[in-house]
Amino acid sequence: MMYKIPRGTFDILPADSVKWQYVKDIFRKVAASFGYSEITTPIFEMAELFERSSGENSDVVQKEMYRFSDQKGRNFALRPEGTAPVVRSYVENHMDKSGARSKLFYMGPMFRYDRPQAGRYRQFYQYGIELIGSNHPYFDAEVIAIEMNFLKALGLKELRLEINSVGCANCAKDYDEALREYYRPHLNDLCPDCQKRYQQKPRRLLDCKVPSCKVFRKAAPSQLDYLDEDCRLHFAEVLKYLDTMGIAYKVNPAIVRGLDYYTNTAFEVIVDALGAQNSIAGGGRYNALIAEIGGKDTPAIGFAGGFERLLLALEKEGVTLPETVRPKVYAVAIGEEARRAILPILQTLREAGFYAEYNPEKTSFKAQMKAADTSGADYAIILGEDELAQGKLILKNLRDSVQISLDPAEVLHNLSQ
Ligand SMILES: [Zn+2]
Ligand SMILES: [Zn+2]
Repeated sequence: MMYKIPRGTFDILPADSVKWQYVKDIFRKVAASFGYSEITTPIFEMAELFERSSGENSDVVQKEMYRFSDQKGRNFALRPEGTAPVVRSYVENHMDKSGARSKLFYMGPMFRYDRPQAGRYRQFYQYGIELIGSNHPYFDAEVIAIEMNFLKALGLKELRLEINSVGCANCAKDYDEALREYYRPHLNDLCPDCQKRYQQKPRRLLDCKVPSCKVFRKAAPSQLDYLDEDCRLHFAEVLKYLDTMGIAYKVNPAIVRGLDYYTNTAFEVIVDALGAQNSIAGGGRYNALIAEIGGKDTPAIGFAGGFERLLLALEKEGVTLPETVRPKVYAVAIGEEARRAILPILQTLREAGFYAEYNPEKTSFKAQMKAADTSGADYAIILGEDELAQGKLILKNLRDSVQISLDPAEVLHNLSQ
């Protein structure tokens, strides 16, 4: 029996792990530069949390969630997205009591039963930001700036920010009416799902992926024309902050988020190199979510992005990422006695945090020096019979081939940082 990996999942092999780690490190750094702290929630939650937050009729809940019940018959789901769990934790841990805004980021696997395709998996990895506790338009711009800084720090160049406002429940009333009016003559041409949406949530008509429904989207009325005064002002302020921060954007009324709890600002970051599936991250305000799942009425904004598409975009734009970790020091030891004597020296280097490599299976000087070169190490430390007799060893800089003889205790201080 040869076991195979489940469809729609992938192994991150050692060669790729270095890249993944690098990208995650940059995200951590950029998030920290804005004062955001990491939060890690379990990969499964009560299924009801997502039914409540995403809406029971949403595709995610209806078709894509991995559900299971445990030995006591409790209904759980593997998390299909990261926001609801973070908000659950925020409410459960009374983070609102501290009086301060919570500035949070997360990373980890999410799960959706979806048809696997290029860059899309059933277990996929996301990174995200959640700012909970402020409706100030500056924070809409800040959250967007985090994503843009992150992508720029990685070296992506062809980025586009598209932004929209989906208003609030108050704005939605007029807009829903306008949409119904627009779609009424086409009602018979819409898919069965859209027939339902027309009655329940006309705004969802805009994100139907069925081609015969999509054709109506272009000429549909825009939410931007139906914003109330507060929401119109909020949006104008967000755009002004973006201008001031030097972040280019395009207002695109077609940016609507698929989940019900989104309000006001909605945005997507697009990388054209990705082709048809070109959205690399998306987010927006979700002022209605926290009260929806049992917390106090609290404004919030966030975004999530996928690591798979991000790595694909970097590849398509020809950005090279580190693939291997190179040793600081490669140990070359000749003779049985030296091969033992080198080990405590390596221990000292490793305890000081340096990557020191040693291969006991290579014994000749030539083979070991060749391996040192291939490894890309900065230095070789060479211990032969002569050095051993003198209580010295040779430190060779493999970049400029300069070598010096020194006491083993001096090696540490002679390594460049
Ligand atoms: Zn409004
Ligand atoms: Zn449809």
